[in-house]
Amino acid sequence: MKNISILGATGSIGTQTLDVIRNSDGKINLIGITANSSVDKIKEIIGEFEPKYVAMMDENSSKIIEEFCNKEYPNIQVFSGIDGLVKIATLEEIDTVVTSVVGMIGLKPTIAAIEAKKDIALANKETLVVAGELVMNKAKKNNVKILPVDSEHSAIFQSLSGYKNKDINKILLTASGGPFRGKTIEELKDVTVKEALKHPKWNMGQKISIDSATLMNKGLEVIEAHFLFDCDYDNIEVIVHPQSIIHSMVEYKDASVIAQLGSPDMRLPIQYALNYPERKGMIAKPVNFYELGALTFEKPDLETFKCLRFAYEAGKIGGLAPTILNGANEEAVALLLKEKIKFLQIAEIIEECMSVFKENYYDELTLDNIIELDKKVREYIRTKWELGVK
Ligand code: NAD
Ligand code: MG
Repeated sequence: MKNISILGATGSIGTQTLDVIRNSDGKINLIGITANSSVDKIKEIIGEFEPKYVAMMDENSSKIIEEFCNKEYPNIQVFSGIDGLVKIATLEEIDTVVTSVVGMIGLKPTIAAIEAKKDIALANKETLVVAGELVMNKAKKNNVKILPVDSEHSAIFQSLSGYKNKDINKILLTASGGPFRGKTIEELKDVTVKEALKHPKWNMGQKISIDSATLMNKGLEVIEAHFLFDCDYDNIEVIVHPQSIIHSMVEYKDASVIAQLGSPDMRLPIQYALNYPERKGMIAKPVNFYELGALTFEKPDLETFKCLRFAYEAGKIGGLAPTILNGANEEAVALLLKEKIKFLQIAEIIEECMSVFKENYYDELTLDNIIELDKKVREYIRTKWELGVK
């Protein structure tokens, strides 16, 4: 029996985690959930799972849920804001927290969960990007596991099992290439938000869908892999593999390559993370090799998809450079979703911020400095692009 909380229970990963719970024969127990403002979805989850604790980031939504619970589920406790998220991440009763909020808002609750000695099933890659060193050190110190939910990192984790880090030659991180694979800069000039949101293989939240279209998602994943597996950036290679059947691979020093394959279904890595080291019953469609057709591989185009290059650069600089990269990206993606900028401007904004905040690269790596710098980067972008003060 495992007791868990889900941060971001109403999102794409959160919803698929609920499905993993439904398939767990009562072995996984949902104790706490959070969401930003999706009141109706939270009511549905409460109706089905009756968790003991709920937190809504948005004040107003939390009042609505509190009233709802007072009337229909008086035993459920309701919290709000970032403190509410921290509460749900650190509940006495839980063993594991699924971090499936989007963005670096997940940082504080994740750190708090680790300090409270909870294992982390980590989907929220932005947290590891901005604070990988802090998170991994804290996890080690508190003897908690960081179990990757991201499909590529789950694949690497599985491909590494039974081997030693010193025997790795490199990590081969696969990428679908996103909806704009093969396109030129010229062709990307006028793409719409709708086109950018249309991922060929995965059905995901809006932010990660845009990140997949710019290849920033792969960039964030390179940094995530660096911290999770303690691997040099020069030994992490991105390979575009449009069929998304090989979820990533590890090349060993003798040139042997071990890979993990599976249907593109996030319930698989979620279920693996929640039951590790055990494997549970079949939740995804098995791969039908006879129907697959060819598996193909390409080099990523770093000239057109500059975000992937920027992520490598920020990762190699280290310190707070990934905080600038991530903050700029989160804010630029939000602007694109509001149709305030064009697709290619995401990379331009990130490049500008990396240069404007250069003097902050090596500020001391503390939680407060990360949060402070992230805020500064966002304010800079909002003033210049959203409010149009140029
Ligand atoms: P989503 O947008 O579908 O869901 C996000 C969840 O976070 C929702 O429950 C939402 O209510 C909550 N949330 C949003 N903003 C918030 C805020 N400011 N404060 C508190 N809660 C907030 O996102 P998703 O696609 O499920 O992705 C979640 C995380 O998992 C991201 O970090 C993403 O990169 C990662 N991830 C997702 C997938 C996928 O297939 N969707 C795969 C790998 C990794
Ligand atoms: Mg991924």
